[in-house]
Amino acid sequence: MKTLNQGNFKEKKVLLRCEMNVPIKDGVITDDTRIRESLPTINYLLENGAAIIIMAHLGRPEGTGYEEAFSLKPVAAHLSKLLGKPVAVAGDVFKEKTEEAAKALKAGEILMLENVRFVKGETKGDEAFAKYLASLGEVYVNDAFGTTHRAHSSTAVIAQFFPNDKYVGKLLEHEIVNLEKLVKTPEHPFTAIIGGAKVSSKIDVLKNLVDKVDNLIIGGGMAYTFIKALGGQIGKSLCEDDKLDLAKEILAIYKEKGVQLALPVDTLVADAFDNNANRKVVPTMEIPAEWEGMDIGPKSIDAFKDIVRSSKTILWNGPLGVFEMDNFAAGTLEVGKCVGESNAFSAVGGGDSIAAVNKLGIASKISYISTGGGAMIEYLEGKTLPGIAAL
Ligand code: AMP
Repeated sequence: MKTLNQGNFKEKKVLLRCEMNVPIKDGVITDDTRIRESLPTINYLLENGAAIIIMAHLGRPEGTGYEEAFSLKPVAAHLSKLLGKPVAVAGDVFKEKTEEAAKALKAGEILMLENVRFVKGETKGDEAFAKYLASLGEVYVNDAFGTTHRAHSSTAVIAQFFPNDKYVGKLLEHEIVNLEKLVKTPEHPFTAIIGGAKVSSKIDVLKNLVDKVDNLIIGGGMAYTFIKALGGQIGKSLCEDDKLDLAKEILAIYKEKGVQLALPVDTLVADAFDNNANRKVVPTMEIPAEWEGMDIGPKSIDAFKDIVRSSKTILWNGPLGVFEMDNFAAGTLEVGKCVGESNAFSAVGGGDSIAAVNKLGIASKISYISTGGGAMIEYLEGKTLPGIAAL
């Protein structure tokens, strides 16, 4: 793979795939992290004399043409503000106006194409659409880590049209360097903290981590499938009954390989899925019938913190409870704070964990915050990510 410092971008039209899928409410961008994270690559290309054509997606449009709600115009306006220079938006959805604007673009200028997902072919990896996009520029740079696990036209398929002129952007490079460190050369003890609602989305990573970590902490809604697999009573807690066998298999693999798998010993339960519901702490194996597990309990918090404190590498993906509700956020926040305070190499991925890190104000204390939850998980599963393979 070629990094940006191996390229010559002077007077070149660079097609740059960015991850700019930001939350927008009533036309206002509520979190611009992804746009700001794209700045190092954009600035590097500008400083090196490129004309930049940005390709990005926003939300989930139908794929049948322009939809105002998913237009990249507010993103371009915000980027323009951050850069202090104009960012033009292509005047149509991949037709003449787009082609004319790309053709007229000069070094130092930026053009943002409309949402690539306005075209159905994008998410299907349509080659004709990839070829069309490729015809607009001379060099391809991919910086969109968050979509590298998808074989879409603008993230992977397009690369074949630039056999000698395809590059890894700075953000993507940063992700790969840190993920490689986690996968290949982590300092031990290595602890993974995996939470979130569903076991099903994280089975492969749990299986794959057994060969890498010394401790696996499981929290969040997915813990109850494991507790039930161990014979516990979980009341109305989240459970994927069709994954009980897989949970048993994972428990067995960890036991066989001698890797510690820590589940919450106590649980904060509620009598309704509501911040103001009645709540109490009970042993996780004995959750009463009408109650549901909403957060890890105080003994579990202490136990998980002890593991974190003894670790030299920590990977955290997924909240340990329903942290969006203040009464059930303590587990996620307390363990998160401990990760921030530790001197270990710490990696955090997934939107919810990043939100928790931001809420705690400890982002600067985390060694590496991944911008792609799903992509990070697939990388850790040992899968080849199409967007990276194409480079
Ligand atoms: P995921 O997308 O799988 O990482 O799941 C994130 C979601 O899991 C968050 O919205 C949390 O509120 C939710 N979650 C965490 N713990 C629990 C729990 N004990 N019961 C229900 N939902 C939970």
